[in-house]
Parts: sequence; structure tokens; C-alpha cells
Amino acid sequence: TTRRTGGASTARRPAAGRKPKAAAPRVTPPSSDQEDSAGENSPEKGEDQYSRDIIKKLPKGIDVNAARQILNDIVVRGDEVHWDDIAGLETAKKALKEAVVYPFLRPDLFMGLREPARGMLLFGPPGTGKTMLARAVATESKSTFFSVSASSLTSKWHGESEKLVRALFGLAKTLAPSIIFVDEIDSLLSTRSSGSEHEASRRSKTEFLIQWSDLQRAAAGREVDKKEGDASRVLVLAATNLPWDIDEAARRRFVRRQYIPLPENHVRGQQLRRLLGHQIHEMSDEDIEVLVRVTEGFSGSDITALAKDAAMGPLRNLGEALLHTPMDQIRAIRFEDFEASLFTIRPSVGQDGLKKYEDWAKEYGERG
Ligand code: ADP
Repeated sequence: TTRRTGGASTARRPAAGRKPKAAAPRVTPPSSDQEDSAGENSPEKGEDQYSRDIIKKLPKGIDVNAARQILNDIVVRGDEVHWDDIAGLETAKKALKEAVVYPFLRPDLFMGLREPARGMLLFGPPGTGKTMLARAVATESKSTFFSVSASSLTSKWHGESEKLVRALFGLAKTLAPSIIFVDEIDSLLSTRSSGSEHEASRRSKTEFLIQWSDLQRAAAGREVDKKEGDASRVLVLAATNLPWDIDEAARRRFVRRQYIPLPENHVRGQQLRRLLGHQIHEMSDEDIEVLVRVTEGFSGSDITALAKDAAMGPLRNLGEALLHTPMDQIRAIRFEDFEASLFTIRPSVGQDGLKKYEDWAKEYGERG
């Protein structure tokens, strides 16, 4: 293990992209005992070059099959999200830039007092853009993005979930800078699961906390292991709709807890305008203003669902004629289409539910 006192050499390294070409050269060189061209490290059918290169050079202690699963199902490549794709949430974007993006791009500036947090919790009602934010962070910080739902960590692997967790953190270091995004973190770190919990989920919870602590320790010392990768540029971003389910000890490990609230009026307006931007419509500014008022309490994903349903209006009216009507004769989307859709598309969070988030945010969170 080499210890770094400065970040200069880290900064000089080329940034990894999530595309195979850019990320491949950053893979740690193999140790001689890892080269195994005829063994389980040999390529599987259908495996792409990116995964193959990484599998060939896996550091010690990472289970090959677990690594394969992660490369296939958990590393997200392509399909990028940028800040501008996300309506509103300016405070959250700013916090994430400061906590993750800038430190990843300029590690030399973020040391000592400016040492970034190693974990951030995004909490709030469902469908408010938590996943989008995590993906944008990965894109903007040019990081490898590991997207895992906590329930898949505990269920999929039948008792081998620790291996999966170890491989997740191991690969994240190898492919650093990396973002490990854990959705539904409550199901992994909940108070409930500590009592009569399932053996497998207890073990994966323990392993997750061990791996995360190791990461924090290594990052604090700026340890860069030639074989195992750069722990200082791996961050755990977690999201939950049930923040009150996370047990206290686990909650405290997230030094930063960012509230991702329902969109305010002007944000819903912005999102509606953007969604209609590429469509043929007859919606006036006044129509949008009315929609903004009646969609109080809608989440970003409710707004998207509403606009999608309304966009079907002109086609629904055609009935079977849809099959032979030329494109240019399909009528524009109108306010009435939204009115009709509002009967079926309702906000997914009620007033009571919302109050619970607001209260938790006041007690434990930062506002976004
Ligand atoms: P969460 O992770 O908070 O449950 P997501 O980020 O998965 O929510 O959002 C679900 C969908 O809702 C997105 O794919 C997008 O279509 C829409 N959406 C939610 N929030 C926003 C937002 N702030 N800006 C634009 N679209 C949003």
C-alpha cells in the first residue's frame, strides 16, 4: 500500500468515463497469481470487452462471479443524466457539486478541513429525482456509476450476498472515481431488520458497514493501493423514501442528509414546459399556470406520468383510425387532455405522508 500525502498525482490521472474505452486503461494491473486465462476468470459468452478486461485483472479477494454480476447488472453505462435534465432541486445540486463532483475532479483542493464526506443520504417522497441526481453526479464527476437496490443485495444472492457487497466495494475502488448508489437503503440498514431479521440480510448489512468503514478509513489516510485502487474517490450515495426506518447508528454515518422535497410551483411549471417542449401542443402560458396550481403535491414522476397520459389524448380520440391517420393530421395536445388525465393521475404522496418527511427533515436533514 502506498500512502499519499498530497493529491497531485491523483489529479494528474486521466478521468475515467463510463464508456468502455475511457475506463479500461484505469483497471489495476493484474498480479501474477491472478492471471488465469483458462480458469473462472476466462470470458463468459456474451461478455463485452469492457467487462472482460476488468475480470481478467481483478484484485485478490473479489469473487469472480460476483464481479461479473456487478459488471452486468450494477455498473450503469451510457444513458447519461445531466444537471439540466433535472427540474429544480438547486440546493441539492449545489450540495452534491460541493460534496462530490468538485472533490472528485480536483482532489488536491479538497484535503484537510475540506476533506469531503464519504457518504450522502438523499431522502424524500418517491419520484422526486433522487436517482436522477445520483446519475447526474456520476456523469458530471466522470465516475463509474454502480447502481444497486438494497433489496437486490440481500435477496438475489442466496447467502452469498457478502461476496457481492465485497465485490461491489472492490470494483468501485478498482474503477475509481466511483459512485456507489444504493437505492432503498432503508431495507439494508433498517432497525427492523436487526431484530428477527433474515440471516442473509443481517450478513450483508454487516458486510456493507465494514466495507464502508474501510473505505472511510482508507480515504482519510489517502491510501492508494496499487492493486486495489483509489479508496479516496469512492462515494456512497444512498436514497430512501423511508428515512425513519434507518437505524440510528447507520443514520449517523451519513454525515450529510439531503432532503429532496416535492417540486415547488415554479419547478412544476418548468418541468411541464420542458416535457411539452418537443410536442405539438396548444397550451398557453395561462394553461400551464392553471396546471401548476392544480398539481400542488405532485412529485416529479407524477408530473411526468400526467404529461405522458395527456399526450396520449389526441391518439385516444382517434380510436382505430389511429392506424391510418398521417402524422401531420394528429391534433395538438390541449389543456382538455390534461384535465381528463387529472382524473386518473393523482399525487402519490398525501398531506399526512408529506408531513412525516418535513418533520424528519427538520430533525435530521438539510433542506434541498
Ligand atoms: P426517486 O429516485 O426520487 O424515486 P427518480 O429520480 O427515479 O425518483 O424519478 C423518477 C422519474 O420521475 C424520472 O425518471 C423523471 O421522469 C421524473 N422526475 C422526478 N423528479 C424529477 C425532476 N426533478 N426533474 C425532472 N424529472 C423528474
